[in-house]
Amino acid sequence: MRILLTGGAGFIGSHTCVELLDAGFEVTIVDNLSNSSETALKRVEEITGKKVSFHKCDILDRDSLKKIFDSEKIDSVIHFAGLKAVGESNEIPLKYFLNNVAGTVVLCEVMAEVGVKNLVFSSSATVYGDPKSVPITEDFPLSATNPYGRSKLMIEEILQDLYKSDNDWNIAMLRYFNPVGAHHSGRIGEDPNGIPNNLLPYIAQVAVGKLKELSIFGNDYNTSDGTGVRDYIHVVDLALGHIKAIDKLKTNPGLVTYNLGTGNGCSVLEMLKAFEKACEKEIPHRFAPRREGDAESCYADSSFAEKELNWKAEKTIDDMCKDMWKWQKNNPDGYK
Ligand code: NAD
Ligand code: UDP
Repeated sequence: MRILLTGGAGFIGSHTCVELLDAGFEVTIVDNLSNSSETALKRVEEITGKKVSFHKCDILDRDSLKKIFDSEKIDSVIHFAGLKAVGESNEIPLKYFLNNVAGTVVLCEVMAEVGVKNLVFSSSATVYGDPKSVPITEDFPLSATNPYGRSKLMIEEILQDLYKSDNDWNIAMLRYFNPVGAHHSGRIGEDPNGIPNNLLPYIAQVAVGKLKELSIFGNDYNTSDGTGVRDYIHVVDLALGHIKAIDKLKTNPGLVTYNLGTGNGCSVLEMLKAFEKACEKEIPHRFAPRREGDAESCYADSSFAEKELNWKAEKTIDDMCKDMWKWQKNNPDGYK
C-alpha cells in the first residue's frame, strides 16, 4: 500500500517515512524543500534499506500534484506540508494562509478529483489556544493566538465542511503536542533554519557550542518550579501514531480527531536538567521575561488515541534528550 506524504522531507515527515517503510508501506514524498533537505530522504533510505519516490513539488502546484497522483497508485495521504514558525506567521500572515490553508484546499481538490479520500492531517495543540485547564481533551474549546495557529484551526474547519459534504472521506486530524528527539541512529533529526525558536533545539545548540546560553522565558508561572510546562513527545512515538491513524482510516471512521501527546507535563527546568544529563555538561542559562503569547501549562489527555488507535507514547524525557543529543553532536550543522 502506497502512502503519499506531503512535507515528507521535514522533521516529523522523515521520521514517519522511516516507520512507514519499516512497517512495509511504500512511500511517495511531495516536498518543495522550503524547510528541508533531500539529504534527509537519502538517510531515510540508508536507515531502512528501502527506496522512496521523491517529487520536488509545491502543493500549491495543482497540475504537478495531479500528475503525481495519476502516475502513482496512492491509497492515503499524510499531510505534513506547512509553514510552522509562530513568530514568522505574525510578520507574514498571508504567506501562512496561502501556503497552509490554500495549499490544503488544492491538495484536497486534487485528491477528490482522483478519488483518494483518506487523509491524515498534521494539526497542533496550538488549536487549544491558552487552555483553561490541563490535561487537555479533544473537546476543549478551540482558539488561535497567532496566524500559524489560525491556519491550523481554519484547516480543521475546512476538513469538517469537506467531510460533511461528502461522507466518502476518511480524515484523521492529529493534534501534536511538542515533538522532540530524533531517530536513535542519529542520522535524521530536526534541522531548524537560523536560531531555533523551540526549547529543545535551542538547548541542543547551546550544548554543542553554537549558542551561548539558554534564556528561560518566565520563572513566575503557577507551576511546580515557576517555568512553563509542556507535553514533549518523542518524534518516533509520534511517527508511530501516524501508522495507527492510517490503520484507523481503513475502518471507515469518517472524520476523527486525536491528541498525540504523552499525557505528562514537563517544565523548562526539568527539561534542561534531563538534557544536561544526556550531554554530560552544564548548559549555561539565565531567566528572562515571559515570552508573549506563551501558555503556562499545556499537556494532553491522550486516552482517546490510546483507546481508539491502540497507541501510546512509550519513550521518556531521557530518551528524547539522549537521541536529540546524538543527532546534534553528530550533525552540528544539521544536513548542511
Ligand atoms: P518541517 O518544516 O520540518 O516540515 C514541513 C515540510 O513541509 C518541510 O519539509 C517543507 O519543506 C515542506 N513544505 C512546506 N510548505 C510546502 C509546500 N507548499 N509544498 C510542499 N512542501 C512544503 O515541520 P515539522 O516539524 O516536520 O512539521 C510537520 C507538520 O506538523 C507541519 O504541518 C506543522 O505545522 C505540524 N506541527 C509541527 C509541530 C512541531 O513542533 N514540529 C507541532 C505541531 C504541529
Ligand atoms: N522556552 C524557553 N526558552 C526558549 C524557548 C522556549 O524558556 O528559548 C520555553 C517556552 O517559554 C515554553 C517551553 O519552553 O514554556 C516550550 O517552548 P516551545 O517554543 O518549544 O514550544 P511551545 O511554546 O510552542 O509549546
